[in-house]
Amino acid sequence: MTTANFPNYYSETVTEVHHWNETLFSFKTTRNAGLRFLSGQFVMMGLEVEGRPLVRAYSIVSPHYDEILEFYSIKVPNGPLTSRLQHLKVGDTVLVGKKPTGTLIKDNLMKGRNLYLLSTGTGLAPFMSIIRDPEYYEDYDHIVLVHGVRFVSEFGYKEFIEAELHDHEYLGDLIKDKLIYCPVASREPFVRSGRIPELLETGALAAEFGLDQLDPEQDRVMICGNPAMLHDLSEMLKAKGFKEGNMNNQGSYVVERAFVEK
Ligand SMILES: Cc1cc2nc3c(=O)[nH]c(=O)nc-3n(C[C@H](O)[C@H](O)[C@H](O)COP(=O)(O)OP(=O)(O)OC[C@H]3O[C@@H](n4cnc5c(N)ncnc54)[C@H](O)[C@@H]3O)c2cc1C
Repeated sequence: MTTANFPNYYSETVTEVHHWNETLFSFKTTRNAGLRFLSGQFVMMGLEVEGRPLVRAYSIVSPHYDEILEFYSIKVPNGPLTSRLQHLKVGDTVLVGKKPTGTLIKDNLMKGRNLYLLSTGTGLAPFMSIIRDPEYYEDYDHIVLVHGVRFVSEFGYKEFIEAELHDHEYLGDLIKDKLIYCPVASREPFVRSGRIPELLETGALAAEFGLDQLDPEQDRVMICGNPAMLHDLSEMLKAKGFKEGNMNNQGSYVVERAFVEK
């Protein structure tokens, strides 16, 4: 439903809320049939507060063909939106912008061999959409999803990716063959610890999964995470010969901020 007050937004009803820990939660909503988006895009989303939309950029977690919308959110202490949003209940209304956009889309990349999806924190969100898009499995030999967090409790969707996705009615077999999920914790003992740029730089990640080393001629990379990680990874990729892609020029890597530091 479009609200008469806010013609740029659909009004959607919350159908499920899940709190992963004290700093992260996710929720599902109805989806207006008029909303079209590509896997990996983000949209303005939020609440009506004192008669006005209070909205922020949010990546869409659900795949483009899903009947519902899903979002994965941080809880920022005193954050104007998330201090309210974290109290969402089933039946509440959220505003969803009518114009999804973003750079993490397949057409911004040249064709390639392996696709690396590198994320930290809520930067996982757009990749949750992409790893359920069959077109990506047609285009790439492997999809390597790396999720870096500080503490193990911040691995949202880990069980879903490791277990449920493998039993996916249509994608299960493709995912079993082609999706490599690589969770990394930086501040707590875990099977894989450290920082994503170092795991790539040293070749440890490719070696662990028996992949050829990262190659700008053949491999493609999407990055979504905190500003420091984006900076470090971009510098490392550029030094290796990777070229950034955008709407006008296909490249070998693309970048989206998971949030803006204010
Ligand atoms: C392209 C894009 C996509 C985004 N997608 C998501 C998403 O899928 N999920 C999500 O939770 N947020 C996402 N964000 C961030 C989001 O837009 C808001 O900043 C966030 O919801 C907090 O809103 P707020 O009003 O509570 O606080 P704000 O005033 O917006 O932020 C306050 C401070 O909180 C920190 N912060 C904000 N967002 C995050 C975050 N996600 N992780 C860690 N620290 C953060 C930053 O230091 C920021 O300066 C995205 C941002 C961009 C630019």
